[in-house]
Amino acid sequence: MVRVGVLAVQGDFIEHSHALKRVGVESVEVRLPEQLDSVDGLIIPGGESTTIVQLIDIYKFRDSLRAKSSEGFPIWGTCAGMIVMASELTDKRPDPLKLMDIVVTRNAFGRQVDSFEADIDVSGINDGPFRAVFIRAPIVTKVGKKVKILAELDNGNAVAVQQNNLLATAFHPELTNDSRMHLLFAKMIEDST
Ligand code: GLN
Repeated sequence: MVRVGVLAVQGDFIEHSHALKRVGVESVEVRLPEQLDSVDGLIIPGGESTTIVQLIDIYKFRDSLRAKSSEGFPIWGTCAGMIVMASELTDKRPDPLKLMDIVVTRNAFGRQVDSFEADIDVSGINDGPFRAVFIRAPIVTKVGKKVKILAELDNGNAVAVQQNNLLATAFHPELTNDSRMHLLFAKMIEDST
């Protein structure tokens, strides 16, 4: 059975823990880098990316996350988490961790009031479209050769991507009752161990 860590420095980590619990996957709130050694993968939740990156640096997660990610440790970032994982942002802030070969644009749909939901097809998710919740969401504007686009909006914006052990979604699967994305990540972890 896999143990999934949820980075619990800011944002909606509790919702991720609940989503994992619903499908019987053990989750651990990760607040210190040492805890990364006792989990099989990590979710970086949605929230406010400049704050999350600041806290990542204050608690000294940056080097260990970069090392683990290059060793094949599975990491999934949702929304702000996707921003944190990017190699480059079209914004000046924050300074992302550069785990994944993607360029990300923050707040790509405008302000909080421009949040929306959409039914999208996600490669690897069977039995129909996934109801995706976008809250001041980012989009992936450029991907490197090793990155696979798993889902796009009708306008062509990439909103779910994977690069080997790394997964990033611009939307928030933890805010719906649909657990298929959490199961997909748990499967990625299982396959990697
Ligand atoms: N707009 C936020 C940011 O740039 C991300 C929003 C979210 O995680 N829902 O950090």
